[in-house]
Amino acid sequence: MAASSASSPAPESCGTALPLLRGEGLPPFEAITPGQVETAIPQLLEQLNAELTALEHTLQKRLQAISNGAAPLSWAELMEPLHHLGERLRWSWGVVSHLNGVCNSPELREAHQSQQGAVVVFGSRAGQSAVIYRALGQLLEQHQTSQPGETGHLDATQLRILEAERRDMQLRGVGLCGAEQEAFNAATTELARLASDFGNHVLDATNGWTLRLSDPAEVAGLPDSLRKLLAQAARQAGQEPGDADATAEHGPWLLGLDMPRVMPFLKYGARRDLRETVYRAQVARASSGELDNRPLIERILTLRGEQARRLGFASWAEVSLASKMAGSVGEVEQLLEELRAAAYPVAQQELEALRAIASRQGAPEADDLKPWDVAYWAEKLRQESFELDSEALRPWFPLEQVLQGLFGLCQRLFDIRIVSTDPGEAPTWHPDVRYFRVLDGASGASLAAFYLDPFSRPGSKRGGAWMDECLGRSHTAAGEPVLPVAYLICNQSPPVGDTPSLMTFDEVETLFHEFGHGLQHMLTTVERPQAAGINNVEWDAVELPSQFMENWCYDRATLMGMARHWQTGESLPEADYQKLLAARTFMGGSATLRQVHFALTDLRLHSVWSPDGGQSPEQLRRELARTTTVLEPIPEDAFLCAFSHIFAGGYSAGYYSYKWAEVLSADAFSAFEEVGLDVEDEVVATGRRFRDTVLSLGGSRSPAEIFEAFRGRPPSSEALIRHSGLVEA
Ligand SMILES: [Zn+2]
Repeated sequence: MAASSASSPAPESCGTALPLLRGEGLPPFEAITPGQVETAIPQLLEQLNAELTALEHTLQKRLQAISNGAAPLSWAELMEPLHHLGERLRWSWGVVSHLNGVCNSPELREAHQSQQGAVVVFGSRAGQSAVIYRALGQLLEQHQTSQPGETGHLDATQLRILEAERRDMQLRGVGLCGAEQEAFNAATTELARLASDFGNHVLDATNGWTLRLSDPAEVAGLPDSLRKLLAQAARQAGQEPGDADATAEHGPWLLGLDMPRVMPFLKYGARRDLRETVYRAQVARASSGELDNRPLIERILTLRGEQARRLGFASWAEVSLASKMAGSVGEVEQLLEELRAAAYPVAQQELEALRAIASRQGAPEADDLKPWDVAYWAEKLRQESFELDSEALRPWFPLEQVLQGLFGLCQRLFDIRIVSTDPGEAPTWHPDVRYFRVLDGASGASLAAFYLDPFSRPGSKRGGAWMDECLGRSHTAAGEPVLPVAYLICNQSPPVGDTPSLMTFDEVETLFHEFGHGLQHMLTTVERPQAAGINNVEWDAVELPSQFMENWCYDRATLMGMARHWQTGESLPEADYQKLLAARTFMGGSATLRQVHFALTDLRLHSVWSPDGGQSPEQLRRELARTTTVLEPIPEDAFLCAFSHIFAGGYSAGYYSYKWAEVLSADAFSAFEEVGLDVEDEVVATGRRFRDTVLSLGGSRSPAEIFEAFRGRPPSSEALIRHSGLVEA
């Protein structure tokens, strides 16, 4: 199939003995060692580089011949070898990255780090190949000059794959020439360095501030867990030897600006002056002296603007949106305004409610609440309105029962059956890992499979939860179908003795979330691997199925069906269910407004700000704050200097995606609410339609088209506004 392999220097002859180079099937996890990574990956990259060179050579000749009248270029000549190259790297490097996340060791981490640079270099080389870019252009031209059914005409999926490939290469600057391309590449390098400096400044500024507390009155109100954390920090800083429990009780305690210490301190710390001190330090991070990020922000924004113009776009926001579902800056602005308008009055009422409780409790600050009072009084209000102890709910959520609830829901909605396999049926990386098969409910045919690695393993497993692709839906070289296999990784408490793994409600939601990603990966019906499952799905639409599944955790039938006490079999008390519902929308106006403030600031900085517009990025943000915050930022608030998402991470002109995807998922769920969550026939029919559209079509069509196929109309923010508690029910 690969036009290139005929002319390649028989690259596969030397590597087939290494399990890491097998390139297909379930990975033999246990046979892979850190040592092999350092042998196999360089060998693989050498092969792939040689094959890429050969492919470029072949294409060069073909393009020349075509200009002299030879037969048109075929999909199989270009897209298949290209996919094959990428897939072999994905398979091998995917196993290494996976093991690095779930079976970490110093040796493996080092092996991973030692190869990562070379893997990135290969990706850049393929992504910036001028010959491949011209060949993609040739395929597109043939398509545009042919009629359906004629040679060279592409189907809708092929066209979307081709256009995405071309667009990604264009955004890497492949279409630029000479000095323009040199300037582009130089700016790309400088931007990477600036992003890394920005992140380091935030890190150094965060780590460079501490406050030593030694009087027990200073830690009044703090929960034990936080006192322990602060005491541990004091011991680690060498300020106190002593025994852990004794320090937690008697101090000293060391406060810092990292999230795990700052957030709970602002929430529980009874000493208002200390909350103020820590808040002022936190919002001023990286805004002065050597760590001042202000000059970096201006330079980053200026360079991004220049890069955009080189690529033919009016702004960096347009560059970002070129590969996303949102069609234009105007569309994003409109959504953010809808959310802002709904959230603003609610956030004002919420602030009033905080003033009221402060006043009821006789706090002198009641008439003059400051930003460092908000989290504190919100916590007091939460305790007063509904005491929800997330730890106390664990006995109602043993893992096995939650899985049965989740699988039962999937059977009901999507007509699939999920069956556990016997140990040993599939290779795994740890005894806790289970392997499940997904069968079609109607035909019983195998559709997919997934690994579930549910428990936390401090020290060897990365925190958090994620879904990743083990195998994608495709075909082997011999034409045999390959079924998708997903990795589902969570980090919940393991069983202890006879007690099973008991989950918090958050962990239940997380499992449903990751399973939603998994469903899109596993239930795909797309025949072309480049657009199957989550591949080729726009970044701002990829959270649709995952957040959609979270909604079911609040559905009475689903929740009550699985929440039963693991010892007594008793159902979750109604009062607790009501608390879960109340917690979901608690301070919902403020939370929405905060995200709108961040998203709009990000968008405007990347669409309207310019270095010679007479306004600093900081001034732009303060102007926006007038309509997107209910408490004005204090003078030393330099939030932008620590906005790493957009200046050091990958979210520039993309922060809005959080809300964009939530609109889609809430609106998708509202299709079920509309037909009635207790009208079984309708729920089933709507579930099947969700499977046949969102879950099955993946990246083969535009997300807008798929959403409309499911919902019968374009997305609306009404459901999200309602679910966030921003309108009267
Ligand atoms: Zn997700």
